[in-house]
Amino acid sequence: MHIYVKGIEDERLIRPLSLIADLFFEESNLSTENDGKADIVITIKQQRINDEMNITAILEASSDDRNHKASYQLEPNGQLDEKAFFKLIKNAYLYVFLKVLEDYTGIVQKWGLLTGVRPTKLWHQYRKQGIEPEQAKRQLKEQYSISEEKLDLLERIVDRQLEAIPDLYDLKREISLYIGIPYCPTKCAYCTFPAYAINGRQGNVESFLGGLHHEMREMGQWLKDKNVKITTIYFGGGTPTSISAQEMDMLYEELYESFPDVENVREITVEAGRPDTITEEKIEVMKKWNIDRISINPQSYTQETLKAIGRHHTVEETIDKYKLAKECGMDNINMDLIIGLPGEGVPEFKHSLDETEKLMPESLTVHTLSFKRASEMTRNRTRYKVAGRDEVEKMMEEAQSWTKAHGYHPYYLYRQKNILGNLENVGYAKEGMDSLYNILIMEEQQTILGLGCGAASKFVHPVTGKITHFANPKDPKSYNEGYEHYTRKKIDILEETLFSN
Ligand code: SF4
Repeated sequence: MHIYVKGIEDERLIRPLSLIADLFFEESNLSTENDGKADIVITIKQQRINDEMNITAILEASSDDRNHKASYQLEPNGQLDEKAFFKLIKNAYLYVFLKVLEDYTGIVQKWGLLTGVRPTKLWHQYRKQGIEPEQAKRQLKEQYSISEEKLDLLERIVDRQLEAIPDLYDLKREISLYIGIPYCPTKCAYCTFPAYAINGRQGNVESFLGGLHHEMREMGQWLKDKNVKITTIYFGGGTPTSISAQEMDMLYEELYESFPDVENVREITVEAGRPDTITEEKIEVMKKWNIDRISINPQSYTQETLKAIGRHHTVEETIDKYKLAKECGMDNINMDLIIGLPGEGVPEFKHSLDETEKLMPESLTVHTLSFKRASEMTRNRTRYKVAGRDEVEKMMEEAQSWTKAHGYHPYYLYRQKNILGNLENVGYAKEGMDSLYNILIMEEQQTILGLGCGAASKFVHPVTGKITHFANPKDPKSYNEGYEHYTRKKIDILEETLFSN
């Protein structure tokens, strides 16, 4: 879809306008120059009348003889600095742009102008400022055109998070730990995480684990020296249960030896995602080291789907491994499902919910498929037939009503680019079983220190809230070559952020 936008003088508006256009069209091309090829022309004007500014948009399309109009009024306070003034104007431009596109396409964007990953953060900001929920809702609706349904969801999730972590806003001087193990039995077609074959061309597991043990010792010593507490620990990847039981045992032993006060960490999770990596011996190792929470991820209970997405395990194996983990005493298990997998519609998704009902895990995370740029699925998009926007929404509604009827509540949410139907990923949990790490990583209230392959660290300044990012390399080979450097670098950033005023 070629869109020609007239009346844009500030180049900084082009990217946010393009992001809004992408919500409506699979391939959109936005231009501020008229090349004569535009399918639609949107003219945006701004007019000042006394203290008021009026922003209007008119959409004209060759395929449609109706004109679509929208307007937005603002009263900019004379005291605003340039940055705040631009933000206000940008919001007004995006608002009218969104509204004419909604009118033209008939698609209502329930998240309105929000294209970011973490809408709950906005709600937390209002909470911290002491703004009442009704007023927050009014403002978010007026400024961002967010639907009542999504505003209610934000409110419920944030309330839930503060019940699970009452001191959420006071954990800035603690950290959480993410440890990335970059191996998987096979690569899922939608995946862009580091997921290498064990002992493949990317160097062997032993070398990788050697580097990881080094990072753990060094970082652990620094945290001990500085008396920094750890709130939660998460082993992700890849699949951290891809390595052998003995390697897992040594890794957890290192964890307890190197890091301060691991016995009192609030939650330790191991993402055991792929059922084909789980054995009784590995579950026993996790029990031995008091791993609180694991994930065993079906994604779908339809065998053909698993085959189509490159997961070489059976539906039965997921169920068997879940039961095995329960028998071994694992009492906090999460399961992931994905809405919109290739070939799946409402009946297949309902089937997955029916199967979930037989197991009733402590938490259920419902993802919506997203076409990430570097995935196999995106590279060969035409090979993968996925459901349309309306059907994807129906599946999301099924997930909402199923979880509600079965005593699960939503406790964290995030969105991704190119997510089907512009929807979201939502974590649901039974009472008291919310994953604390998931809340902390989403709400960016404290530093997350990433160790291992593909581990992204986020350093949150305890006073200003400013976030500094640092990522370890995704591939084991580069990691093995540079882990000492990455460790030092992170200690430097920690010194600068956690211990500055
Ligand atoms: S199991 Fe997870 S990390 Fe591994 S390939 Fe599949 S999506 Fe990627």
